[in-house]
Amino acid sequence: YSSPRAPVVAGNWKMNPSTSAEAVALAEALEAVDGREVVVFPPTCYLDAVATKANKNVALGAQDVCVLAESGAYTGAVSLPMLKSMPRVDYVLCGHSERRSLFSDDDDAIRAKVRGALDAGFAAMLCIGETQQEYELGVTDDVCALQLAKALEGVTAAEMANIVVAYEPVWAIGTGLVCPADVAQRVHSSIRQRLRATYDSSVADSCRILYGGSVNPSVIDGLMRQSDIDGVLVGGASLDAATFGQIASFH
Ligand code: PGA
Repeated sequence: YSSPRAPVVAGNWKMNPSTSAEAVALAEALEAVDGREVVVFPPTCYLDAVATKANKNVALGAQDVCVLAESGAYTGAVSLPMLKSMPRVDYVLCGHSERRSLFSDDDDAIRAKVRGALDAGFAAMLCIGETQQEYELGVTDDVCALQLAKALEGVTAAEMANIVVAYEPVWAIGTGLVCPADVAQRVHSSIRQRLRATYDSSVADSCRILYGGSVNPSVIDGLMRQSDIDGVLVGGASLDAATFGQIASFH
């Protein structure tokens, strides 16, 4: 591990597992790893149970939040105060590509969720990343810069302490196609450069930038050796506690 920043290993369970009993079993099997911030994002309906069962050194986050109102006639939605009232929830995931593509979360909605999360005292884990087509066109850096700028509009340098960025190339999510470590490093460095230009060196040098997209135990060490990769956001491989533990125990 070569980054000067404290590493984060995050697991995004997405719409898994199918039963609360399995969620509890997964929560009970999670291991904390010294010197690493381990975070899991269970489905919101399992947060309470996971909070009760998971190792106290594993942090929790919500996969999404509704910021249209604090309460009221918004069928199916979960608000920031509701998340706040749950035990142990520290993070809100914002801008995941599945939210962008399947649930129409646009840049404005994502910015509002980041703003809401920060105002409510959560840290925001902000996902950005280019599609396959954008990757092939060579516009990865521009796409990431734009998504970053739009989501962070109005976020102050001080508030950046509560932002974790996750670079997740859409073509690498759930496909088994891991972005090569040197390519990911180059994008992370470009994202950090953007933070330096928008804020300052201290913000850029302290912000954790995670890689996400088909992360598995066979690629973790190569990724974590890159100087601008400060951790990973793991989807599929976070659903098996032993595999996730192996990833969190990277060298
Ligand atoms: P994956 O998902 O590890 O299954 O590719 C990553 C993510 O969507 O956060």
